[in-house]
Amino acid sequence: MNWAGQVNIKSTAEILLMREAGRINASALAAVKELLQPGVTTADLNAAAEETLRKHGAYSPFKDYGHPPYPASITVSINEQLVHGIPGKRKLKEGEIVSVDCGAVFEGYVGDSAFTAGVGEISASALALLETTEKALYIGIDQMRTGKHTGDISAAIQKFVEGKGYQVTREYTGHGVGRQMHEGPQVPNYGIPGTGILLRPGMTIALEPMVLVGTHRTRVLSDQWTVVSADGSLTAHFEHSVAVTEGEPLILTVL
Ligand code: MG
Ligand code: MG
Repeated sequence: MNWAGQVNIKSTAEILLMREAGRINASALAAVKELLQPGVTTADLNAAAEETLRKHGAYSPFKDYGHPPYPASITVSINEQLVHGIPGKRKLKEGEIVSVDCGAVFEGYVGDSAFTAGVGEISASALALLETTEKALYIGIDQMRTGKHTGDISAAIQKFVEGKGYQVTREYTGHGVGRQMHEGPQVPNYGIPGTGILLRPGMTIALEPMVLVGTHRTRVLSDQWTVVSADGSLTAHFEHSVAVTEGEPLILTVL
């Protein structure tokens, strides 16, 4: 990945703009979350996010991203789909777990955040997966302090997730975020404490544990975007964009 090396330190003014982008992003995800029920199509979820972004003068950095150009404003990944599922005619069903990833560009700055939630009642094992993945995100965020290294974040996430008997993905990582959706540093969900990039105030990172019940291996479907677990097991994904400060980590992608 050619963005892995470039780490951009943001000024306080830039972080305030990123906080606004993050707030809008959180509003779009909240609109999607309200719709999660059986019978709703994944295209409906995309439309709700797009409308919220537009209303706030923002747009998604996902649209037309990459090769082939990504065709929607959010990604919707169901059950064994880990990330990058393309919204369409598929209807949500009771008991499924749905990961929604959304970006927002506002005044030239990007927010990037994702959640996974159940449709109606879900199994106890699916619920445990969601709880572990969300908690892994906050355990990672807690390491985002001046003087720590990216490897401390990665190792904390990996240790927690593997301790619960799950796997972390190897092919997809957290990343710096700012004027670009993907900047340095790359922050894998596995690693060694004390290694990697030294964290400094003004670094802004999208942290995103992607957790699999079975093998950590994945494959990409023929649409060239949707990533699924290689063994078809359940997966989950939570993400926040977070700023490193002199003190507590500042979560940007909340209301
Ligand atoms: Mg994302
Ligand atoms: Mg991301």
